[in-house]
Amino acid sequence: MEKNCTLCPVACGADRAQKPGACGGGARARVAKYGLHPYEEPCLSYGKGSGTVFFSGCALRCAFCQNYEISHAQAGEELTARQLAALFQTMEEMGAANINLVTAAHYIPQLVEAFRLYRPKIPVVYNTHSYETLPALRAIDKYIDVYLPDLKFFDPRIAARYTGRADYFAHAYPAVAFMAGRRVEMDGEKMVRGCIVRHLVLPLCANDSVKIVQKFAELDTDARFSLMGQYTPHGDIAALPELQRRITRREYEKVLTALLAAVPAERVFAQELSAAAEQFIPDFTPGGSLF
Ligand code: SF4
Repeated sequence: MEKNCTLCPVACGADRAQKPGACGGGARARVAKYGLHPYEEPCLSYGKGSGTVFFSGCALRCAFCQNYEISHAQAGEELTARQLAALFQTMEEMGAANINLVTAAHYIPQLVEAFRLYRPKIPVVYNTHSYETLPALRAIDKYIDVYLPDLKFFDPRIAARYTGRADYFAHAYPAVAFMAGRRVEMDGEKMVRGCIVRHLVLPLCANDSVKIVQKFAELDTDARFSLMGQYTPHGDIAALPELQRRITRREYEKVLTALLAAVPAERVFAQELSAAAEQFIPDFTPGGSLF
């Protein structure tokens, strides 16, 4: 990675020791914010909440990103592997249910280094856009307990319009298939190992969402599927008029109906549409509250 980064499918070839790559990632992991998160799926956000660590930068960079301020900018602080390991310990001391690594794909080597220094006693959750390579995922696999991958777009035209990456599904589907191979283990209501595949329904994209549901149903897995209706207009969407509204109940229910026809209800999480509110978008300004 150091000299010619090909960690993710962008394969931009950056020498990250000299300057950041297309994802914004440099030689050290940059953390924008961390804290206890009460609004993940209930099997992850129990007790005091999920110990969420938001990493700066992103290789996918959706125009509508709900965390736009950190995915498209250089917010936050660079941490050494030792500091990252200390942060994991801090989260444990705060009483976190788990360590939840949000959009960390462009920092996999740095995370592996941190895990070699300190292995958390609570489950580690890997929260990703899934625009990933299999070698990168295999490198971090032994340190991850719960995978939390998005499966965002099926149609290359939609992926290209919102991310500039027409090959999103071609990379994300094998990546999700790999992560969904992690069999679910529960401790009562708590997920201690396993996989939850997430999908955010977008305005005018219900048919694409139905394809995503069908492709998920084809996987040989016991992974859960979490359908999200919380899309809120945000980010760099001035040139994307269709994204300037929330989704309709009809759009959401079309996808939910397809999901419940394809996947057993006990493996489905479905978000209330009332979750679509800006109060659920963390404030990434310095000193801003996480939720
Ligand atoms: S992880 Fe970042 S630097 Fe590496 S190939 Fe992907 S975009 Fe480029």
